[in-house]
Amino acid sequence: MRTFEKSSKLDNVCYDIRGPVMDEANRMIAAGETIVKLNIGNPAPFGFRAPEAILQAMRGNLTDAEGYSDSKGLTAARRAILTYCNQKNMPNVTENDIYTGNGVSELITLSMQGLLNNGDEVLVPAPDYPLWTASVTLAGGVAVHYICDEKAGWYPDLEDMRKKITARTKAIVVINPNNPTGALYPVEILEKIVELAREYDLILFADEIYDRLVMDGKKHIALASLAPDLLTVSFNGLSKSHLIAGYRCGWMCLCGEKSHVKGYIEGINLLSSMRLCSNVPAQALIPAALQHLDDTEQLISPGGRIYEQREYIYQAICEIPGLSAVKPQAAFYIFPKIDKERFQIVDDEKFALDFLREKKILFTHGGGFHWTEPDHFRIVYLPCIEELEKAVLSLKDFLADYRQEQSDRI
Ligand code: PLP
Repeated sequence: MRTFEKSSKLDNVCYDIRGPVMDEANRMIAAGETIVKLNIGNPAPFGFRAPEAILQAMRGNLTDAEGYSDSKGLTAARRAILTYCNQKNMPNVTENDIYTGNGVSELITLSMQGLLNNGDEVLVPAPDYPLWTASVTLAGGVAVHYICDEKAGWYPDLEDMRKKITARTKAIVVINPNNPTGALYPVEILEKIVELAREYDLILFADEIYDRLVMDGKKHIALASLAPDLLTVSFNGLSKSHLIAGYRCGWMCLCGEKSHVKGYIEGINLLSSMRLCSNVPAQALIPAALQHLDDTEQLISPGGRIYEQREYIYQAICEIPGLSAVKPQAAFYIFPKIDKERFQIVDDEKFALDFLREKKILFTHGGGFHWTEPDHFRIVYLPCIEELEKAVLSLKDFLADYRQEQSDRI
């Protein structure tokens, strides 16, 4: 019989929620073991409920959302997104520049498919949210990673970014607030990124899905607001701020100058039409969701779950000998550093695998985020403090006598 292989287009595409650690977790689950999943930013399994107003809107909308919508999305949804864009000073956006998607994920892939020819380069952060690198690669492009510097609060290293721009570079991806580091970039850094894009004629891609999960009274600045003379493609959605990752509800806005990107927009429109439209019941909640931001605000304020869990995990990680971390300012991730000399770590994926096997706790190794040194891992701090405490104790216990051998690579 003929055999079928995966498309060679996928040969170089790596993704963090695949690989030997996930395979082992799935094997353990199939064998009836219970695993604590600290590896994915999915609030619902940890007891987070969507705001009641959203649930009500979803129920009410179901009966009116049976047909396809306009491929870019319902007018009411795009109007509500436009109001949000205006609140964030994102320039030159009209309803026509807004596309709803089945989560931001679909639109990231679409935006790269529409732009890149084989060999085109895109600057992507390291560590990154790995879908960006995967989408660039799948579109035939080359993801060139610029360093985010832990010693500088995980802000992008602008010199490194500049050094990596070539004649083939088309765009810079900025993930702010950042997954996996939880960093929030100050205006000075954002302005310098915009200057670079201006100098080298690049498109900006701003993944801002965590912009409503910023703590400590800090303010998120939309990258597009600083670049009215450039094209910024901005991404946002309801998976995180409204705790409804399963509804698959995101959007993408083309902001700023568009006269030089008519061909690219034609490509985006074609791809958008090819998927007919995004999930209509989810689109229909956008107006209600963007009016109900109080529940999110409570979660990230003192006394709120995300805030208190952040306080706990940061302190607890810093108290474990051999670990250190930059305090996250947004989202619900922390990206601790592990002293690789002390634990003789040569393979961070093996470290995650060993921890999973011994303690039945799953986190993602730094390499899953295109971080090249074997000295980081990401914890999703969505579980309640009691659960986090158990995980931290297990980690402390595990590290007390953990050492790798040179031969320990997977
Ligand atoms: N962008 C970032 C930075 C993320 O962390 C995630 C999900 O974890 C996404 C995009 C995808 O979100 P969505 O659920 O909207 O597809």
